[in-house]
Amino acid sequence: MSDIRVRLAPSPTGFLHLGVARTALYNWLTARAAGGSFVLRIEDTDRQRSTDEFLQAILEDMRWLGLQWDEGPEVGGSYGPYLQSERGTNYAGYIERLLASGAAYRCFCSPEELEERRGAHSSTEAAAWKYDRKCESLSTEESIALAREGRSFAVRFRVPGGRTAFDDVVQGRVEFDNSEFDDLVIARSDGTPTYNFAVVVDDIEMRINYVIRGSDHITNTPRQIMLWRALGQEPPEFAHMPLILAQDGLVLSKRRGAVAIGEYRRRGYLPEAIVNYIALLGWAASDGGEILSPDELTTEFELSKISRTASTFDPDKLAWMNVQWVKKLDVADRTDRLLPILREEGLVGDEISGDERAWLERVVNVIDDRLKTLRDILEFDWFFLATDVDYDSIAVNKVLAKPGAGDILAGLHKELSAVSDFTPESLELTIRSFADGMGLSAGKVIQPLRVAVTGGTASPGMFETLSLLGREKVLQRIEKAGEFAD
Ligand code: GLU
Repeated sequence: MSDIRVRLAPSPTGFLHLGVARTALYNWLTARAAGGSFVLRIEDTDRQRSTDEFLQAILEDMRWLGLQWDEGPEVGGSYGPYLQSERGTNYAGYIERLLASGAAYRCFCSPEELEERRGAHSSTEAAAWKYDRKCESLSTEESIALAREGRSFAVRFRVPGGRTAFDDVVQGRVEFDNSEFDDLVIARSDGTPTYNFAVVVDDIEMRINYVIRGSDHITNTPRQIMLWRALGQEPPEFAHMPLILAQDGLVLSKRRGAVAIGEYRRRGYLPEAIVNYIALLGWAASDGGEILSPDELTTEFELSKISRTASTFDPDKLAWMNVQWVKKLDVADRTDRLLPILREEGLVGDEISGDERAWLERVVNVIDDRLKTLRDILEFDWFFLATDVDYDSIAVNKVLAKPGAGDILAGLHKELSAVSDFTPESLELTIRSFADGMGLSAGKVIQPLRVAVTGGTASPGMFETLSLLGREKVLQRIEKAGEFAD
């Protein structure tokens, strides 16, 4: 293992959506490619908005995408706990260190006082109001004395003068004038650390040396770099991912327009397709290849090749990619992945016999490329598995209610009862000669038969379909459809 240590630090205040999944993937690929470690840390200190349901969903979606973490919840590791809410005691020592070195100071201004001073400014100035450093000039003795009196205080970081710059792996040189920042609160009056401080302490303790995250964090980075330095540590490398835009050109975010990964799973998308698609949201393979497996991505991926410009989320492209991935699955794999959906719908039992499995694989084979998503099996091909056909009223009116359809179905019923073996070949011979006998084209005979046994006007090849359904079901369905026929 190399010493590259990256981390994903999601807050369980919502489901895993595309943007965070992409950050997760880029972290995972960076660790895999370098033989380093991928840490999952859960930033759940916002107790009001964090829930266990979101946490479990994030873990499940990460696993489903195949982005297994080397350290983190459930798997443990040497630098745990990996839930920020369980790391409470770790922060106090760091706060003491910053107070002792003078890099931080106690601020006794109450929220009401701060509000009053902010309010004294015009509305535009108030929005940009920065802490006026009233408590910065307190001597250490005064500050300690006030704290001993029991006065409530927050701890603020004393932002040094000058500039803070860093070489972002994606964005290039990024520079900020420190005067843009106010002396940020690092510990609230109840002693709890604020976001920027907790992240730095956790990243230090977890030995993180590469921070890969969304560019929405870029203004936090100079603050965090200042904190790293004040704690006597070398800051990590930073790589800020470009934004993802929705098709209307606005930023796709957790709160706006982002579709949750779990939703795609429920819609029958394949994890390979999602991973493949999000990998290309801001990055391209050197040969421009579009269909890449996780292994190929690991070999090809380079963080420094990520584009700085925002990319646009295109659901149609994702749907197309899913089709490519469904096509790539062999029959056994496709069947494995369809089984949970079929079970959920009660179309197959929990345990299936070898014969049932073989039959299901034949069905999957016949369906061939009709599946754009795994759930399409319920849309188009559920009739293979359902006990009763659900007749589409348009198909019934257009085909079964036509004059002559009843005679065709009655004739077919007779022929198919008598056909000796129910193989596609003998069914084809029987049906074609029946059509000849009636002076009709095969298509004219097959159309009402198709509606009778599948409920609709589109299905895989009729002879294979009949053979797979078996004589009993086919005859029952023809009888049932006879009720609609003229
Ligand atoms: N918890 C932060 C978020 O969900 C991530 C912090 C980070 O990556 O540094 O946006």
